[in-house]
Amino acid sequence: MAKIAFNDLKAQYHHLKDQIDAQIAAVLEEGAFISGPQVTQLEDALCRYTGRQYCVTVSNGTDALVMPLMAKGIGEGDAVFVPSFTFVATAEVVSQQGATPVFCDVDEATFNLDPVSLRAQIERVRKEGRLKPRAVISVDLFGLPADYSEIRAVCDEFGLFLMEDAAQGFGGEINGVKACNFGDVSTTSFFPAKPLGCYGDGGAIFTDDPAMYEILTSIRVHGKGAEKYDNVRVGLNARLDTMQAAILLPKLEAFDTENQNRNRMAALYTELLKGKYETPPVPNGFTSSWAQYTLRTRSPEHRTALQAALKEAGIPSMVYYPKPLHQQTVYLPLGYGEGSLPVSEHLSKVVLSLPMHGYLTEETVRSVCAVLNEIEE
Ligand SMILES: *Cc1c(COP(=O)(O)O)cnc(C)c1O
Repeated sequence: MAKIAFNDLKAQYHHLKDQIDAQIAAVLEEGAFISGPQVTQLEDALCRYTGRQYCVTVSNGTDALVMPLMAKGIGEGDAVFVPSFTFVATAEVVSQQGATPVFCDVDEATFNLDPVSLRAQIERVRKEGRLKPRAVISVDLFGLPADYSEIRAVCDEFGLFLMEDAAQGFGGEINGVKACNFGDVSTTSFFPAKPLGCYGDGGAIFTDDPAMYEILTSIRVHGKGAEKYDNVRVGLNARLDTMQAAILLPKLEAFDTENQNRNRMAALYTELLKGKYETPPVPNGFTSSWAQYTLRTRSPEHRTALQAALKEAGIPSMVYYPKPLHQQTVYLPLGYGEGSLPVSEHLSKVVLSLPMHGYLTEETVRSVCAVLNEIEE
């Protein structure tokens, strides 16, 4: 059998080669490498796809998170609540602005921000009185939207700005509403390995608020005002390249077909592994875009044994994430002790992600599961 890829970007390219090559050639012919017409076309297409009012494409998923914080003037003395079990960018952007990330625990089954822990951390920060609670960045981890009815209620109660980090969540849904709709501002990443990826760095911000949209488009180009050499605020150079926008246009058209395949393959994994493994649940009314298909193994030793058996059979697997953010070296000075966020700490020791992508085949899923099901208890 052919070598199994963890995320087969080559298969996708071969599938979409004619359209992608034509798009790249058109950009080279036109020569509008920055802010070319494909950028606006993509923003319109992303608004149509998500149903959101405004889309600002940007340089990457990290800048997509930093820009709304800049727009809100969040900085020193402010607290921004984030899950600990996520990619570092979710918290890093808070620190970059001089604000303090306050880590919250996650739900053991969905891996997403636990509204009970969120409330407890908000109340703790209020009581301590040292930081001012300003915002929540909730993550749609591995493609599954977080529990936004609960998270929204907590944000409204405490008057907090809600950001949805849908870097991995693009294509997910809650009751037919697409991910990138659940925050006051929502963001995504087009890093190649994400559900909707380009061929370099890229990202996007979504909002329904026209004033926020205006500020974000200004921040994206050096804080520009009404005219090019009129600068009204401190901004960034955070544009998405025309080339990446052009590449994303045919990829967005193929997205639903790929997403359906990821969902079929996830269902097959679950059918073949449940009973023997803790498979990832999808709550009622929710749809995942399966950025990752992630098992909870029984113990760190169990995970090591499974990874070794898979490797032996030529099957790649990954650990997302081996260390929760509150235990990362950079955040040790914040003083979260061992056991302070027990679910995040436990998950980082037992999770294991299996091959998953839009062109994954039933044959591959069956061979991965055969290896996992042959392992001795
Ligand atoms: C990938 C990722 C980001 C950052 O996106 P980049 O495009 O790599 O900057 C932010 N948050 C989460 C949860 C991610 O997975």
